[in-house]
Amino acid sequence: MTQSTDLHDLTVAELAQHLRSHKVSAVETAQHFLNRAQQYQHLGAFLDKSPEVTLAQARACDARLAAGTAGPLEGVPMAHKDIFVTRDFATTAGSRMLEGYRSPFDATVVSRLAEAGVVTLGKLNCDEFAMGSANENSAFGPVKNPWDITRTPGGSSGGSAAAVAARLTPAATGTDTGGSIRQPASFCGITGIKPTYGRASRYGMVAFASSLDQAGVLARTAQDCALLLSSMCGPDPDRDSTSLEVPAEDFTLKLTDPIAGLRIGVPAEFFGKGLAPEVRTAVDDALKQYEALGARLVPISLPRTELSIPVYYIIAPAEASSNLSRFDGVKFGHRAKDFKDLNDMYEQTRAEGFGDEVKRRIMIGTYVLSHGYYDAYYLQAQKIRRMIADDFQQAFQQCDVIAGPVAPTVAWPLGGHGNDPLADYLADIFTLPASLAGLPGMSLPVGFDTENLPVGMQLIGNHLTESRLLNVAHRFQQATDWHTRRPQGI
Ligand code: GLN
Repeated sequence: MTQSTDLHDLTVAELAQHLRSHKVSAVETAQHFLNRAQQYQHLGAFLDKSPEVTLAQARACDARLAAGTAGPLEGVPMAHKDIFVTRDFATTAGSRMLEGYRSPFDATVVSRLAEAGVVTLGKLNCDEFAMGSANENSAFGPVKNPWDITRTPGGSSGGSAAAVAARLTPAATGTDTGGSIRQPASFCGITGIKPTYGRASRYGMVAFASSLDQAGVLARTAQDCALLLSSMCGPDPDRDSTSLEVPAEDFTLKLTDPIAGLRIGVPAEFFGKGLAPEVRTAVDDALKQYEALGARLVPISLPRTELSIPVYYIIAPAEASSNLSRFDGVKFGHRAKDFKDLNDMYEQTRAEGFGDEVKRRIMIGTYVLSHGYYDAYYLQAQKIRRMIADDFQQAFQQCDVIAGPVAPTVAWPLGGHGNDPLADYLADIFTLPASLAGLPGMSLPVGFDTENLPVGMQLIGNHLTESRLLNVAHRFQQATDWHTRRPQGI
């Protein structure tokens, strides 16, 4: 039997193998990770845990492992971003509005993983309604970056990234609307993938911007991401009409394919001023490593990269203002106590329940959709969104994947952007374009700055090329060891 202290060092692939061969039980594994979550509580990664539920799930896994009816991920523990609704754990979306809320059902992604044998450790902190880049917009406190607890883990899936980096869970779900899987993965030195828009069902994901929201996964290796994504994705026609009618795929099949001859597009606009020199160096070195592996670098242009910021920060708030109208004190969660009449109840409830950033977005969104401004802002943004998507199609005529930085800097200090939401928005520049185009994107660790903070590289593929992206990332991880580094004290 494995020493239980080693369990958190195993990858998902290794852990699944240990469980299948009865080297360790699902209950032991779950208990080990529950203990770790307790030990590292100060990171603020978890919002809800329920050890009885987790251990009951693990016991059921052990029964299936004994009976020979185990799923591919039987007994592997995971935690979910608190944007996915869960029957057995509270779901808050990081908001007071949903404090104590319990969904009557599980999100499709959660139930698919459970069917594959995953045990749920709990729910992970995130920015309120996934709006943010630093996890500081959570109503339940920020998350600390395990590499430096004075820094942000990134956002909005900050709890997911911190928990994986601190080895409190071998992997976690996340959602990415404009970078919320890729950027925290980069800031925490782990691997994350946002698949093509529509690959994973949005059913049971608390909606932020429905034309952009996409579920994905954060883990330590590309191989683990491939394993988990294979269980998460697939059509869900009865519950999410935007889920693609593309059959579930085994994303592990092409992991080890050779990448000799691969054409990597390097967009000039991703390497301009504003990119921190140490981030640039790490990404440049990674590109050299790819050349050593037989890939060819192709200079490309994504000319509307800068425009993706205003375009995203019009479209996402517009959709959010509509989606968040459902939180009115009647249907879900919080309701104000003292009110004069129905309108007053709505107003008080929303004033009390939503945080500042969410209110800001609702106001911006309502404004850009209002009569007289719709054409000037929303419609214009939609037109440019289309051009951004077309720019990618042009680029993919010359290359197979696109590579560049995930973010202009490493993780910044908590509170470092002060009360300046624009500073957060601008830092999203490299992740927004792929989101607007609905393309799959990943982040993989490629180095550190002089303060030992991780740097991530982004890989962007054309629609439905997740297998290729994961293959490209996996080959890099076979040749390097950045993804195996761990924060001090972890
Ligand atoms: N940082 C971006 C925002 O605040 C992206 C968030 C996300 O992907 N959920 O909207």
